[in-house]
Amino acid sequence: MNNFEALSLPPKLRTKMSEVRVRFAPSPTGPLHIGGVRTALYNYLFAKKTGGKMILRVEDTDQTRFVAGAEEYLIDALRWCGIKLDESVVDGGQFGPYRQSERKEIYLPYAEQLVRNGFAYYAFDTSEELTKMRERMKAAGVPSPQYNAITRTTMQNSLSLSVSEVKKRIERGDSYVIRIKMPRNEEVKLNDIIRGWVVVNTNNMDDKVIFKSDGMPTYHLANVVDDYTMKISHVIRGEEWLPSAPLHVLLYRYLGWEEKIPEFAHLPLILKPDGNGKLSKRDGDRLGFPVFPTEWTNPETGDVSSGYRESGYLPEAFINMLAFLGWNPGTSKELFSMNELCESFSLERVGKSAAKFDFDKTRWFNQQYLRAKSKEDLAKDLQEILKQNGVVANDDYVGKVCEQLKERATFVRDMWEEGKYYFVAPTSYDEKTIRKKWKEDTSNLLSEFKNRIEAISDFSSENIEKEFKSFLEENKLGMGKLLPAFRVSLTGLGMGPSLFDISSLLGKEETIKRMETALEKIN
Ligand code: GLU
Repeated sequence: MNNFEALSLPPKLRTKMSEVRVRFAPSPTGPLHIGGVRTALYNYLFAKKTGGKMILRVEDTDQTRFVAGAEEYLIDALRWCGIKLDESVVDGGQFGPYRQSERKEIYLPYAEQLVRNGFAYYAFDTSEELTKMRERMKAAGVPSPQYNAITRTTMQNSLSLSVSEVKKRIERGDSYVIRIKMPRNEEVKLNDIIRGWVVVNTNNMDDKVIFKSDGMPTYHLANVVDDYTMKISHVIRGEEWLPSAPLHVLLYRYLGWEEKIPEFAHLPLILKPDGNGKLSKRDGDRLGFPVFPTEWTNPETGDVSSGYRESGYLPEAFINMLAFLGWNPGTSKELFSMNELCESFSLERVGKSAAKFDFDKTRWFNQQYLRAKSKEDLAKDLQEILKQNGVVANDDYVGKVCEQLKERATFVRDMWEEGKYYFVAPTSYDEKTIRKKWKEDTSNLLSEFKNRIEAISDFSSENIEKEFKSFLEENKLGMGKLLPAFRVSLTGLGMGPSLFDISSLLGKEETIKRMETALEKIN
């Protein structure tokens, strides 16, 4: 990034384009990483906020990096996140096709136009010749040799060879690429919405290949041609693309499209939780949390990387967390539904500095959304888990269980793991509670209290509690004398939600049965 001089002028959102059209343009080279989902999200939020269109373009020009299933993966992942597309490989649209490999014929005429106008040239160098050039330059003290205004004069290209030689080579089918002819010592400027003015001198840029020998454009040419032909108004993408932006600006200029150059917004990096380096795909599950929205199975190795969906995260929580990785609303409000994000989002409130990923915060978001869910919705999710565990219970009962447990849970599965006793009577009893709280007179007291319970006609939580308290009072006992024993006999555990609520929900018959079993087993 040292090539760049980012001036701190606050950029103004120019409004020269009437319709906002943004695109998320992933390359299907593997699963979509958290950073990619955030890019998609910010594009989506910006489109919604401005009444614009959200486009998905699959950038698959690099056939050597094709990964089976990656495109399907990203479409499914975006759907799970609630990021809706207006135009895409699935939804179609008037600017299609939306897969670059299907737009193949579009690019060559533009590359040739650049050659004709003196902005690009054919290069015939073999990989051995390129290696030799690099070695030569290194030996001459150039640490990172490039194909540029200096080295191009010594290479096999249409600037160094005669017109007839170039013609001959092309006609006999020699393999060639097309490179941009980077001018000497020119300043390229762009006003990034997030970073302000970015200025780079072309002396620090190389003659990038824009069209490859396999008949495909490279990312740079395809990206610019597609953004232009798809009428993209704003390019919102990760900071790793900032070094390419000046080249894109030049391509716009050389293709005669300077008037239509989109606005740029390069999003800050997402760092590992300790702030040490970028959170990368390779981090997989190594750091103890998923880096992918949904589970991914590597088609070659069969290795499975976990996803937020399969780990039990709610898409609302995942999205809320992601929105805050780089953006903030300027208030202390933290919980934003997708609709609220669409209303509140602005690129001006996206920070320049990298955002540290905070896994605990992600769990916190999930907890908040879980609590906010209706008992009916939660019951539906919990029923899935119950089914997997061979438990049959009616929706109404499951909903009430969820109501009692949701405050204590981070994931739906916690309600099963921590609340099995709502569905299955305990088979063992927490040893520590027994050791500390089941004293000599406990069995007698519990048994007496059981008789009192039998007489309650309306088995509500309040009535059980009332009866419990008067029993303690009559016997001059403190809470700690009987409550833990009562709890362990119903749940097998030492802790949990209100025991009177649990007992009422289990019902009188089940409560008594469990007390009797505990009285038999404990002692
Ligand atoms: N295909 C590029 C990627 O994989 C797109 C970069 C851009 O948005 O221009 O991220």
